[in-house]
Amino acid sequence: VTVGVLRERVERERRVALVPNDVGKLATRMRVVVETGAGAQAGHDDAAYAAAGASVLPRADVLGGADIALAIRPLADLPREGCTLIGFGGHDPGYRARLEAHGVLHLALERMPRITRAQAMDALSSQASCAGYAAVLEGARHLDVMLPMLTTAAGIVRPAKMIALGAGVAGLQALATARRLGAQTWGFDVRAAAAEQVESLGAKFVGVETAPSAEAAGGYAVAQSDDEQVRLRRALAPHLDGMQLIVTTAQIPGRAAPLLVDDDMIARLAPGTVIVDLAAETGGNTSATRADEVVECGGVIILGPTDLPSRVARDASMLLSGNMRALLAHLVGSDGALRLDREDAILGPMIGAQALPAPAEAAAPPQPV
Ligand code: NAD
Repeated sequence: VTVGVLRERVERERRVALVPNDVGKLATRMRVVVETGAGAQAGHDDAAYAAAGASVLPRADVLGGADIALAIRPLADLPREGCTLIGFGGHDPGYRARLEAHGVLHLALERMPRITRAQAMDALSSQASCAGYAAVLEGARHLDVMLPMLTTAAGIVRPAKMIALGAGVAGLQALATARRLGAQTWGFDVRAAAAEQVESLGAKFVGVETAPSAEAAGGYAVAQSDDEQVRLRRALAPHLDGMQLIVTTAQIPGRAAPLLVDDDMIARLAPGTVIVDLAAETGGNTSATRADEVVECGGVIILGPTDLPSRVARDASMLLSGNMRALLAHLVGSDGALRLDREDAILGPMIGAQALPAPAEAAAPPQPV
């Protein structure tokens, strides 16, 4: 089996799907071909891939020669018919349909089931941790106050107040990061199970009574009704008073992000408050969020970065590559054969309703440059 690693082409995307260290670990089971420059922005040059045993090739040869292609972001140019593509894009039915029409099977990373066996392959979680960390640094950069308490001869700086709205993987990492920087921290979530996790990080849990069925299978939240959302926002609003950094991370899989902070709530915040909205790509958790823009509303700054894991591209790539390595080891047996099984507990949900491609003729082996 030949695995192809593509260079990401989306603006500001600096990660790479497989790092040289993992190429070396996979080399006994599969051949790895890497597009020229694929790892350059994540700290890995072509020579490092070659030294790890990969062939470094032009894009067309990787697209045309790979049995399994790895691309983090959705592709404009597709791999050959019969290829299996691993990457994000699973929530975009148009993209999935285009791949299927082209005879490419998409293993969508965001559809990976949250079962213990798949934990090592869970790219959503590894990248959410990176995003939570980077969100706090990004927010801190826009604040006009410091996060830690400082006692100096000239006076005392009070610790900043930070709250994470949505205390899943990203929110918990944001809380941990803000606390390490010295902020006072609070966490809010609709899942009752999040309370214990928030408190284990030394943050206070903001309890707002929610419907008892707020948690779905796999640890995800369920969508709230419109009335319930209005009620939640009313209950949440007073808890935002005095907060200086607000990191919002609330997501409902496959749906638009819930609105947690509306116009009235933004108007109530003190000028200088910074909101970092991690849900900008799915519509945002605030009424003012614009993806990849800095919006100012009455002195409140709202950031909607969609490239946070890329801000720490080397570590984000290392973790993502670990997820890919585990998934590839699951797909390709020690005999080197590719197994695509719709009944498999991990692959089944990632494949969904797509047609499995007919076994392709062995492609001509690509030549190293
Ligand atoms: P996510 O990215 O889908 O959502 C982020 C958070 O937003 C979640 O905690 C969710 O409850 C919360 N949220 C949704 N709507 C909200 C609203 N209206 N108000 C406030 N909060 C809202 O979720 P995630 O971070 O990827 O994962 C959530 C949980 O799933 C984790 O904390 C963990 O317990 C579990 N998990 C399990 C596995 C596994 O078993 N393999 C892997 C990863 C995560």
